Amino acid sequence: MLNTDNHPKNSHPAANHALSLLQHTYGYDDFRGEQQAVIEAAIDGHDTLVLMPTGAGKSICYQIPALLRQGTGIVISPLIALMQDQVDALLQLGVRAAFLNSTLSGEQQQLIRRQMQQGDIDLIYVAPERINQPATLNWLCDCAISLIAIDEAHCVSQWGHDFRQDYLLLNQLKQYFPTVPRMALTATATLVTRSEIALRLELEQPKTFVTSFDRPNIHYTVSQKSEPKKQLLRFLTAHREESGIVYCLSRKQVESTAIFLSDRGLTALPYHAGLSADQRKHNQSRFLREEQIIMVATVAFGMGIDKPDVRFVVHMNLPKSMEAYYQETGRAGRDGNAAYAHMIYGLEDIVQLSQFIDRSDAALEFKRNEKQKLDTLLGWCELTDCRRLPLLAYFGEPDGNACGNCDNCMKPPETWDATEPARKLLSCIYRLDQRFGVMHTIDVLRGKASEKVEQFGHAQLSTFGIGAELSQNQWRSLVRQLIVRGFIFVNADRYGALALTDSARSLLKGELALQLRKDTAQPKLKQPKSGSKGSGVSPEDETLWNNLRECRKALADQFNIPPYMIFHDATLMEMMELHPTTQSDMLKLNGVGDAKLEKYGSAFLEVLADHIHAVS
Ligand code: ADP
Ligand code: ZN
Repeated sequence: MLNTDNHPKNSHPAANHALSLLQHTYGYDDFRGEQQAVIEAAIDGHDTLVLMPTGAGKSICYQIPALLRQGTGIVISPLIALMQDQVDALLQLGVRAAFLNSTLSGEQQQLIRRQMQQGDIDLIYVAPERINQPATLNWLCDCAISLIAIDEAHCVSQWGHDFRQDYLLLNQLKQYFPTVPRMALTATATLVTRSEIALRLELEQPKTFVTSFDRPNIHYTVSQKSEPKKQLLRFLTAHREESGIVYCLSRKQVESTAIFLSDRGLTALPYHAGLSADQRKHNQSRFLREEQIIMVATVAFGMGIDKPDVRFVVHMNLPKSMEAYYQETGRAGRDGNAAYAHMIYGLEDIVQLSQFIDRSDAALEFKRNEKQKLDTLLGWCELTDCRRLPLLAYFGEPDGNACGNCDNCMKPPETWDATEPARKLLSCIYRLDQRFGVMHTIDVLRGKASEKVEQFGHAQLSTFGIGAELSQNQWRSLVRQLIVRGFIFVNADRYGALALTDSARSLLKGELALQLRKDTAQPKLKQPKSGSKGSGVSPEDETLWNNLRECRKALADQFNIPPYMIFHDATLMEMMELHPTTQSDMLKLNGVGDAKLEKYGSAFLEVLADHIHAVS
């Protein structure tokens, strides 16, 4: 008799079905982390809240219960541009999937409606604005619905960075589908956002599943901005054979950066809301389908991009908040291989963002919240010890050891005694009546005879020329750090003039000493391993590796899908290691399920057989 005590994993009545589906459809051996628990809760009809970092495997959490329960699973996703890809990926697995959004013709929609009513669709992706239409809701009510998954559920948070008005109406799904379990999923969630999601979506006593938000394979670096484009180029030179994303603040910056990189022989494509929908689609598709592409983009790009081998994410400016930063950098390394998050930020970012917040005509409370988010992020940028610990603490995981995989861990920054120069700076700001910006203040300190100095007679000030011992960059670094530490602020009412806070007094009076971070030029970057994509292919394996990839690329082109949708790099690596020679050997590999075996198995077996033939 089966002793269930020894099989706690399979104690749920549907556990064996779920596992068998995982193995046959997806080609994976075991569930990861909380996947099985989430699936069981949903199968039992509970509402669930799933908080897992990018790459943890959220999709399977809703796909498997949707497939095992009776009826069609509805997936609400804000990402119209990606629905085709999401559906294609499922079709590859033999799952009957479709989507419903504004890109479909009336006829296509009718067809889907009929298929759904006949129970011929397993999973349907729907945009929030579409499902909120009464007509859509009404006909969906006539279909059997197995589950409703609300992806990117943090979009419901009004103070979050991805707020979508349509998400607020999703609470009505409870009335329309009172007996259907709902699952909210997100990779971004502070404690506040978590409760907000459950509240706004009116989840019914949701079972909450949280896995660690750590992404140990991502290496975090922050460097101070001096010559941003050159700094970027230096970074990319160390990542030549890889693809990744470079985030810029404005459309103009996207364009100029993409041109700068293209002129230097790199394949860099722009992406921002100012491009035509066709152009955006084209560039996105090249990024997903080709190798070694650099996407230079505003944050309009990236949510939901499930390209597994994005090897780096560079921020050319300060992101909007820790949440935004974590989500954006989280797009790197979904496959678990080494990946880089590199931020280049400087004083101008601080000035620009502070002014932006101050000048907006949003409510005071909103502004205060934005300001606080900015301060938190600035504090993080200026850290002198492990970056990962506070990042995780921010997401509610306070314990842990220094990570050993961030710039500060790998090369602890030097500090210097900045008490005297800081006092000089503060008195100079005071002497300038707190009416002048950074550039002029530094000119006065360094005793520069600029036009403005002449115009205002500032050469007569007692602080003129008292700071010649520091370079302009060193003064900028000091200003930046004093802003972050709250001794000075950028006064938006006076066009960005530097002004003193109350805490400046104790520093001026000599009651405080100040140790600050010494800015270095670009930190030394580890060279990625040689071989393709940092995946550690040895020179002897290079030919086979390239042949397997060529086979994958040819199939991808033939079916018009991205190569990773055929098989991930990890599956190709297993082919190289294990040399399957039969269909059943092939089925044992991670990522090879029944449908993919049938479609692609023999093509890859042939490549492997040719290789053995060639070397023997
Ligand atoms: P998320 O939506 O959480 O970012 P995905 O659902 O896209 O993550 O999954 C990330 C990757 O992990 C995908 O390539 C997926 O196929 C893979 N994956 C998910 N679950 C498993 C599992 N149990 N075993 C092996 N690979 C898995
Ligand atoms: Zn660290």
